[in-house]
Amino acid sequence: MSGLLDELYRLQERIRFVQSRERERDTVPAELTEVDRAFREKLEAVQRLKQRLLEAEVEHRRASAELTDQQEKQKKYQAQLRNVQSSREYSAVLNEMDGVEKQIRASEDKVLGLEEELETSREDLQKREKNLPRETQEHEEKMKDWRAAQRVINEELRKAEGEIREIEARMRPRELAEFRRLIEKKGGLAVVRVVSNSCSACHVKIRPAAMQVLKAGSEIIYCDSCRRILYYDSQNP
Ligand SMILES: [Zn+2]
Repeated sequence: MSGLLDELYRLQERIRFVQSRERERDTVPAELTEVDRAFREKLEAVQRLKQRLLEAEVEHRRASAELTDQQEKQKKYQAQLRNVQSSREYSAVLNEMDGVEKQIRASEDKVLGLEEELETSREDLQKREKNLPRETQEHEEKMKDWRAAQRVINEELRKAEGEIREIEARMRPRELAEFRRLIEKKGGLAVVRVVSNSCSACHVKIRPAAMQVLKAGSEIIYCDSCRRILYYDSQNP
């Protein structure tokens, strides 16, 4: 039984180690957050610019097609104007022409505006993309020590995860499942040491009878108060 408890305690320790080191690895250090944010912002700006260019190109094609249609209409009205039979018909066609000319002016403005936007955006994108390799290199240079630290953590994680797999392979599936459930329910702390006859998690005193069973190491004892598994280490009581 004490063998099982030793294993559970070690397993929990390794699981907690993995969790805290993963957090550490995935948290950019405070002195680098600004550097990292600024670089990400540059990458995102390039993505946004590319996206906007695609949209503006579509808008430009659409507006140009509209303009062509309107110009066709204008030609049609001009031809009609030459063949009108009455002054009533004449003013009606003239009216249509006015309308289509207004549309043409609006479309021309739109096409021109989009062309300007496309030109500036393309220049902007080109400049940004040209700088990006150098900026990436500079950024990686600043992040170098941190990347090295991350690699060390990954190596520690690889070892700890290996040990977790080994311990779990030695356990019975049902015991393992119960332990996993308990550790999940108890905020990562399923097995707790007994320190001066008390539960070290909730500090409630352990009944003398339970202490005797613990010392004998013959069965699993749960804390009366927080329901965690109690671990009595006879070497360090
Ligand atoms: Zn307790």
